[in-house]
Amino acid sequence: MRRPNIVVFLVDDMGWQDCSVPFDRQRTLLNQRFRTPAMERLAASGVKMTSAYTSPVCTPSRVSMITGMNVTRHHVVNWTSPFRDQNTDNPDRELQSVVWNHNGLSPVAGIPSTIHATPLPWILSQAGYYTIHVGKAHWGSSGTPGSNPLALGFQVNIAGKSTGHPQSYLSEENYGNVPQKPTINAVSDLQEYHGTGIFLTEALTREALRALDAPVRNGQPFFLHLSHYAVHTPIMADPQYLQRYLRQGLDSVEAAYATLVEGMDKSLGDLLDYLRDRKVEENTVIVFLSDNGGLSLAPPRGGQPHTQNLPLRAGKGSVYEGGIRDPILIRWPGVTQPGTSIHVPIHVDDLFPTLLDMARITDARPLQTVDGQSIVPLLNGRRRDLGERIFYWHYPVKWIDSDGPGINFHSAIRRGDWKLVVSLRTGKKELYHLRDDLREAHDLAAVRPDKVQELAAALSDRLREMGSPMPRVRATGMPLPYPDGQ
Ligand code: CA
Repeated sequence: MRRPNIVVFLVDDMGWQDCSVPFDRQRTLLNQRFRTPAMERLAASGVKMTSAYTSPVCTPSRVSMITGMNVTRHHVVNWTSPFRDQNTDNPDRELQSVVWNHNGLSPVAGIPSTIHATPLPWILSQAGYYTIHVGKAHWGSSGTPGSNPLALGFQVNIAGKSTGHPQSYLSEENYGNVPQKPTINAVSDLQEYHGTGIFLTEALTREALRALDAPVRNGQPFFLHLSHYAVHTPIMADPQYLQRYLRQGLDSVEAAYATLVEGMDKSLGDLLDYLRDRKVEENTVIVFLSDNGGLSLAPPRGGQPHTQNLPLRAGKGSVYEGGIRDPILIRWPGVTQPGTSIHVPIHVDDLFPTLLDMARITDARPLQTVDGQSIVPLLNGRRRDLGERIFYWHYPVKWIDSDGPGINFHSAIRRGDWKLVVSLRTGKKELYHLRDDLREAHDLAAVRPDKVQELAAALSDRLREMGSPMPRVRATGMPLPYPDGQ
């Protein structure tokens, strides 16, 4: 039997509520605000994963996705700088930054401050897949092999490098390629779209579909990693969608943000149409996901800070649900049940073993130990859960210059419906029961000290076992204690 084609449609910084598909138990005001008909179409023909997780920011999630390693193992704890050997952590008066793999992922051993692992596209390529990367990469810093998708096993790379956001979405600004003001964040490879009036998201979509023509024509299985720069900052309006959102009364920033979302959705729709028209949709798996929660800093978002992902608390950078809950949709024709939901918690660490399982690659021998687990038994209905699983988040650095809810020097653990949120700086531990309290509004630490102790011990054991770095106190040079106090 032929291996299925695989499309990973990755959106940058898209929140769990940034769509018209309801991922919560009921439709929300945000579901009414955003217009994403293609996501609705995908949800109607596939399955919605309502409790899926990522890391709080880009690179840690992206490294997990293509290696299957959890952040507590790969130690790429923060986003990587576009420049080699530069740590992106904000300085802190009390705490010293930890030593982490700040150059990101590398397929080659011996690159300082990188994690060395066998990446997913390389394995797929070895198994006969035609592997295409389009858009944002951000797996490693410039001057390391991890910055180049071609070194990670992709046979085609369009516009992917070490950078985490575009200088501009506008062709009128050549996507940031302005001769007098060269910038690392200028988007590469799209010269033929400069000055054409074509928004970046649309240009990447056209390139992705063009790149698919060869494998579709040749009947070769393909792996397309279509990784949009949208909806990351800079929040720039896509003019063709703007009026609708201004008419809704949104402020100019939130209206512009909604246009980035709708443009991303148009891309998904074009992709779905392409697969249908080329008669390959029946043998193509689509995984739609984001790499972290929606940005909730205001500014640069509009509105009140940390309300942009309601009912979830906080947003990107936070270990609260708003920073880590991911709107994942999966369509696997003949396997997933159309229009259904799966509420079992999963993690982006699971993508690596899941895609290998879907591709029926059983002889991969990756260098790394894989933390994720294949979710195929959930998708094909053979199992209702994957047993008791524990999920970990570890963000032992300072992301932004001001502290926000669950932001900077935080870790977390989820086991069953219980979640423990730990401030590494203060040692404060908060306990939430997510089934009853998705908003993380009712801290139960005082009434369930047994549960706090159990989860703090499990998290600490994991961090110690993995050698996960802890921040040090500047005044003493000593590392902070683990969440269990030891
Ligand atoms: Ca991101």
